[in-house]
Amino acid sequence: MSVQHARVPAADAAEVPAKRGFEFLNVPGPTNIPGRILNAMHRPAVDFSGPEFIALSKEIFQDLKPVFKTEGEVFLYAANGHGAWEAALANTLSPGDSILVPETGNFSVAWADMADALGLKVVTVPSDWRRAIDPNAVEDALRQDTDRAIKAVLMVHTDTATGITSDIQTLRAAIDAAGHPALFMVDAIASLATVDLRMDAWGVDVTVAASQKGMMLPPGVAFVAAGERALAAHAASSMPKRYWDWGDRMAKEHYRKFCGTAPEHLIFGLREALDMLSEETLEGSFARHARLAEAVRRCVGQWCEGGALQFNAVNPVERANAVTTILLPPEVATETVRAMCRDHYRVAVGGGLGKLMGKAFRIGHMGDMNEPMILGCLGAVEAGLKRLGVPLGAGGISAAVDWLANPEQAD
Ligand SMILES: *Cc1c(COP(=O)(O)O)cnc(C)c1O
Repeated sequence: MSVQHARVPAADAAEVPAKRGFEFLNVPGPTNIPGRILNAMHRPAVDFSGPEFIALSKEIFQDLKPVFKTEGEVFLYAANGHGAWEAALANTLSPGDSILVPETGNFSVAWADMADALGLKVVTVPSDWRRAIDPNAVEDALRQDTDRAIKAVLMVHTDTATGITSDIQTLRAAIDAAGHPALFMVDAIASLATVDLRMDAWGVDVTVAASQKGMMLPPGVAFVAAGERALAAHAASSMPKRYWDWGDRMAKEHYRKFCGTAPEHLIFGLREALDMLSEETLEGSFARHARLAEAVRRCVGQWCEGGALQFNAVNPVERANAVTTILLPPEVATETVRAMCRDHYRVAVGGGLGKLMGKAFRIGHMGDMNEPMILGCLGAVEAGLKRLGVPLGAGGISAAVDWLANPEQAD
């Protein structure tokens, strides 16, 4: 048997373009992790019950509150967004409770599925996934609930599958107009730090979020912020729980705050992320996301003139600042676009989820992102689409450049 030389290139190596430079990460999560955060995490482990780490985590719990714009309690879990979803439900509800989940897209469907698995009764307000939540339909559904069986309304703020952001304040107003006492829970996993969210001022009882989107961290930390009404509901909730239980996590002993070993390195990274956000300011981060998202929309708008592509979000004002979902014509499969962009242009874009599977692709533009990154992504995707023969309207990139060159957009 002949020994193969590890350094001899495979016969087909020439067919794969050399991989030089960065691969652009334009999937809508996980997002780019800034060097500052990576560096902050590059350190030895510490005693998580020692004074240094206790002081750091106290600071973190405090400094997260302004990010949610709440005076409530913030809980931190070694989990992804799905963990935050479960924590929100398990802490406030009891088996057999009904909840109302206005459909926004794949993420509202998945949260509702989880609720169903936990023994909750799910009432939905259906949607075609191309529009934001209709507050009137939610108000009607709540008015019909005359015996007040519905204990919570679950809203996905930015549905990352559809690229649509719904309006928290109009939904709060709809709940109030129906005079309904249900808790109001918001999935802000893709919206935290990308678009304004004022938990207390807007009457949100529970907000869930995760580390790997607008917060620029690796996946692995989930956040749940709870206001007074949610904490009162916790006291009455009979859903079985231990790891998620807010009761334990509000205990005085520090080690109970994490229900075991703290995800130290993610906390080191989180400290850096909070510092970066406070340097930029939250409002600065929202403005940057809006500016870059608009550049994407200007470009995609031109592409759509070719007649093959469409924005999934029908109403321009509902298009998210975190991600843009683009519908493909039936003859072009999502995976073909993703593979072309990835293998030939070194940019990773997202696929379609749920009923958009195979029919859409998504450009993520949240987190640690700037103008050249967005222009590079758009240029590469345009080249990929052209190479696939997708008819595109002309002038996409220059529309994005013109938008960014507008001095009124300058920061
Ligand atoms: C990413 C995302 C989730 C799921 O988060 P995981 O960390 O993958 O569990 C849920 N909701 C929204 C809106 C998201 O963007």
